[in-house]
Amino acid sequence: MPGTPPQTRDEAQREFAATLSGFTAGDKPEYADYSRCIHCGLCLNACPTYRLWHNEADSPRGRVRQMLLIDQGRMELGEGFVTHIDRCLDCRACETACPSGVEYGKLVEQARTQIEKNYKRPFASRAIRNFVYRRLLVEPQRVARMARIVRFYQRSGLESLARGTGILRLLGLQERAALLPRIDGDFFYSRLGKTFPARGERRARVAFFAGCIAQVTFTALNDATIRVLRANGCEVVVPDGQVCCGALAAHAGVRDVARALARKNVQVFLREPFDAIITNAAGCGSTLKEYTHLLEEDEPQDHRPSVTNDKHGDAFPAEMATEFVKKTRDVTEFLAEMGLSAPLRETKLRVTYQDSCHLLHGQKIREAPRQLIRAVPGVEFVEMPLADHCCGSAGVYNVTETAASMELLEGKMQHARSTGAAAIVTANPGCILQLRAGARMHGTGQEVMHVVELLDRATVRGD
Ligand code: SF4
Ligand code: SF4
Repeated sequence: MPGTPPQTRDEAQREFAATLSGFTAGDKPEYADYSRCIHCGLCLNACPTYRLWHNEADSPRGRVRQMLLIDQGRMELGEGFVTHIDRCLDCRACETACPSGVEYGKLVEQARTQIEKNYKRPFASRAIRNFVYRRLLVEPQRVARMARIVRFYQRSGLESLARGTGILRLLGLQERAALLPRIDGDFFYSRLGKTFPARGERRARVAFFAGCIAQVTFTALNDATIRVLRANGCEVVVPDGQVCCGALAAHAGVRDVARALARKNVQVFLREPFDAIITNAAGCGSTLKEYTHLLEEDEPQDHRPSVTNDKHGDAFPAEMATEFVKKTRDVTEFLAEMGLSAPLRETKLRVTYQDSCHLLHGQKIREAPRQLIRAVPGVEFVEMPLADHCCGSAGVYNVTETAASMELLEGKMQHARSTGAAAIVTANPGCILQLRAGARMHGTGQEVMHVVELLDRATVRGD
């Protein structure tokens, strides 16, 4: 009760510690979580940033330690901490390596939320972050408008002009420009609200989560996903009103926006009964499966940011998030569980696989995509060395920390080349963009595709 004096010594100590802490209440790294770290260092070699720089402060153990020091008031939440936390890819390889169960992804996202609340970034950075996380991603219409502008730039000759005149190099934007996704001629939005019947006997009725940026850059992948699901006996519904999953906002520490998006998606996807909610983006899937955790804390109703057409005036029952999470499946997980029923034609191709961090470390799914690749007759599957190490994409990391991202990509492409594979297959649109840029920059000549695009190519549909 506010104003009630502490009843026990423990309570008094906690109250005193809270007065020193550099963190504030709500979305805060908790002692119970970071105290699980036993400082063994088994995560160090799994951490891409530690492998790059061999700096303890850029390792998982070092970052957890800095959180503890700030929470105890022994370190300032200042530029140094922000730099080390910004440099983390949130790839969660350290979680897989950790024998002590440190939930590093949860901790780093909470640390970023504390930075968002208690640290003033430079003006330009604040302006860009506010635009991207609080305006652009919450409103599909804005994503579409922005995509049309980029498409005009890409197709009007302006892009070639910028490249040809060397202006991008002059501005230091050459690498970032190479990562810019190709905007689709036909956006995915027109499929929203539609139902696609199963081919042959219906085995399941599923809802498809289409993503936000993916609806303007990965229409072909989304269409391929629907075709593969239908060919394998699924009726596919694409619910209208769905919004961005909130992953980019949550990873950036903008958790109030991530929560508003989560509430909207839960309401939209539970409007009708579905056997599963399917995503083809491992980064989105990882966040969708953590909606219960994300929605554990919530803003008071009058402080909630509004998301497209939804003021979220209603109280939000926690059981709905649990129900949503129970149904959410990555498309590879779902197809491997259900088993492929559509016949597959011989497809002669030497293929390697890059684990998406948020599928492997976030969702603990390793075998399903490999099993599906191996199911295609004619495919020669070859494992890539260090396939479980991040390619450097990591949401917007390749834009915000371009130099580190490019270093990681260079190493990744060396390993990809060493397999002699003609195609690199992965399970996340962000990784696809990064690896395609890598194949171009390093001249490996390899095709990059999603697991479902390989299945789509091989599936005999009879139409
Ligand atoms: S999430 Fe990735 S980059 Fe960040 S500390 Fe863990 S292993 Fe390192
Ligand atoms: S492996 Fe886990 S317990 Fe060991 S140092 Fe890393 S985070 Fe701490």
